[in-house]
Order: sequence, then structure tokens, then C-alpha cells
Amino acid sequence: MAIVHLTRGWHRAQDGHPWVFAGEIETIGGDFAPGDLVTVVDHRGRFVGRGFINPASLIRVRLLTHRDEQVDDDFWLARLRAAWELRRSFWVESAFRVVFAESDGLPGLVVDRFGPWLVMQTLALGVEVRRDFLVEALRSLTGCTGVFLRNDAPVRELEGLPQERGPAPGTPPDLPTRVEVTEGDVRLWVDVAEGQKTGHFLDQRLNRAAAARLAPGARVLDAFSYTGGFAIHAARAGAREVLAIEASAWAVGLARENAELNGVADRCRFQEGNAFDLLRTLDQERERFDLAILDPPAFARSREALEGALRGYKEINLRALHLLNPGGYLVTSSCSSHLDPDTFLGVVAGAARDAGRRVLVLEARGQPPDHPILLGYPESRYLKCLICRT
Ligand code: SAH
Repeated sequence: MAIVHLTRGWHRAQDGHPWVFAGEIETIGGDFAPGDLVTVVDHRGRFVGRGFINPASLIRVRLLTHRDEQVDDDFWLARLRAAWELRRSFWVESAFRVVFAESDGLPGLVVDRFGPWLVMQTLALGVEVRRDFLVEALRSLTGCTGVFLRNDAPVRELEGLPQERGPAPGTPPDLPTRVEVTEGDVRLWVDVAEGQKTGHFLDQRLNRAAAARLAPGARVLDAFSYTGGFAIHAARAGAREVLAIEASAWAVGLARENAELNGVADRCRFQEGNAFDLLRTLDQERERFDLAILDPPAFARSREALEGALRGYKEINLRALHLLNPGGYLVTSSCSSHLDPDTFLGVVAGAARDAGRRVLVLEARGQPPDHPILLGYPESRYLKCLICRT
């Protein structure tokens, strides 16, 4: 096994972080193929960890363990089993995240379960080269027969990996890619082939339920609604009227079907369009709401993009606050890991100041327990959701 020698000085990997960046490496002794296991040592030769190497990635080594242990098939199986057992110990629903990458000690591997399907993303070379093994192991562990590969995630390009999607070998050919899942008493269509990311944003599940508690009798605005998750939860909880805004025509179509499925189509309106523009138009038309929900895509996909992203977050929050009746609620989210919770709070505070509104934060929420945050790996803490009252 090749030995990766870190440069002199402190490195995050020595504090338990799972990444070794290219610039932190002094030399590499021995031969290796891309995706191979390597041992990482500090500049004095002391053991730091073991993981897989990708010469095409800035994240040169992703560590699987900080202990001097063997990484064989049993090691991978134990990691998968631990991830599955963790979910089974608290989860009863048909849809949840089975594997959350580095947080589960499985760098670059994301697996979501939707009924009979596992949707799998191999976002790092080390798990890509072990894909067939991982697929079979996950099948026998979970009993799910269908495995759909959603390797059309842009982050794969940073690993030098191609974009691809399709069922994994061994998937029953007649298994429909569109399945119904439940979130509490809400039923939702999820399309594992055509949907965004893995098909459905599981990470907002508990926040959708929390927002729905504020919905009885309310006129609700759900901006960036995708297939209507927040909108339908709110309508089911007794919202008087829901307006949802979404840029993707495909998502709007499925949102309408989801409203039908839940018997709330008469109280939901789904508008296709750009939320930035439509929020402004609604204000010009003097439309007012009792509950506004903002769940935009990650505006900051890199640290460099943060400044522009902050302006975007501020703008939509300002616009949403303008649209709220006195005493109205704002449920506002950000899923950029580059935006830390305090900075996000500051952005919303700035929007409140500019809107001339006094705003109380009732709850500062985050991600559900099937997306656990790994201490020492701040990148795993990415979702912020503030429940505010004006
Ligand atoms: N709230 C959703 C998830 C939202 S994901 C849920 O609970 O399931 C973010 C959504 O914003 C995506 O569906 C994306 O298509 C949409 N989107 C991105 N940019 C947009 C824009 N400028 N205006 C409206 N929608 C946008």
C-alpha cells in the first residue's frame, strides 16, 4: 500500500477530519492506482489514517478510518450495516437517507431509500470503483431490489468522474421509477429517474412538518416549491390557500399531481416561474400571506460564490418579509454548507432591518437525524431552517 506523507505542520486530518487536500501532501511513497487504498502519515511518519486516493481531485485522499486497521470487504460491510442500523433504530417511514457519506464513514457515498428503490450517488472515485460491491451489499442489507444510480451530480466533475444515470445491473426491469412515499399523513410521488438530485429532498422532511404547524387557516406562500412538499404539508394541515412558485415545469407538474393525491388541489395553486421575479410581482399586486416559506437551491456552491449568494438570500428574504401580514410567519432555509448558521442569521437580520420588521426567531432548525452532522467535519452541517414570526 502506498504511503502518503503529509507536509510539516497541522492538518485537519490529524484532528479527525476525513479529507487530505493535494496541497497538504509532501511525498507519496510506493505505487498506487486511482481509487486505491493508501496509508496517510505525518511528516515524522506517524500514522494519521487510511483511505482512498484520487490523483484527479483536489481532495486527494478521503479517509475511511483514523485507526490503523485493515480496510477489507468486512470493513465496508460493517460501515454499511452501521448506517442501516442507525436509521432502523429511529426511522419507520418508507423514505429516508440510508447513507450520508462522510458522516457515516463512507466518503462520497450517498444512498436514499424510496420504497423499493435505493438511489445511489458515488461522488468520489474510491466508492465509484467499488460500486458493484456496494450495490450488492446494500441490496442484501435493505431488501430493496431496485438500485438507481444518480451519478449526474456536478460535484462528480471535481473528482474527474463522468455524468451518468440509470438503473444498476440486476434491477428488475419492470420496477416503475415513480413511487409513492409518505411523510406523516402526506403522500408524495417521487421519480427516482427524472427528479432532481436523488428524486426528493428528504432533508427538509421534519421542517416541512414544523412549518405545517403554522398553517391552519393561513394563506401560504411556498417559494422554490419543487414537487410541492411544503405546500402540500401546509394544505393538509389546514391552510386556507397555498400559492407555490417553482422554476421547473416538470416539478410543477408533479406538484399538481401530489396535490391531487392528497385531496388538496382545490386549495393549492402552482405557478411556474422565477421566484425572484414573482415575489416582486406579488408585492406590487399587494398580495399578502400569513406564512411564507423559502427553500432555495444552494446559491453558494463554492466559497468564492458566497458573496453573490448572500445578496440572493437577502433579496428573497426581504421580498418575503414584505409579503407577510403583521404577525405572519417566515420559514426560511439555506442548504449551502459554505454559509454558516450565524452568517445566515445575519442575512435574515439584514433583510428584517431593511424591511422595517421586528422579527423573532422561534426555532433554528437543521437537518434530520438520517443526515447526521459529524463533529470535526463542519461540511456535514449544511441545512439551516429558521422559523420566524414578524
Ligand atoms: N421545497 C422543496 C425543495 C426545493 S429545492 C421541497 O420541499 O421538496 C429548490 C427548488 O428551487 C428546485 O426545485 C429548483 O427547480 C427551484 N428553483 C431554482 N431556482 C429557482 C428560481 N429562481 N425560481 C423558482 N424556483 C427555482
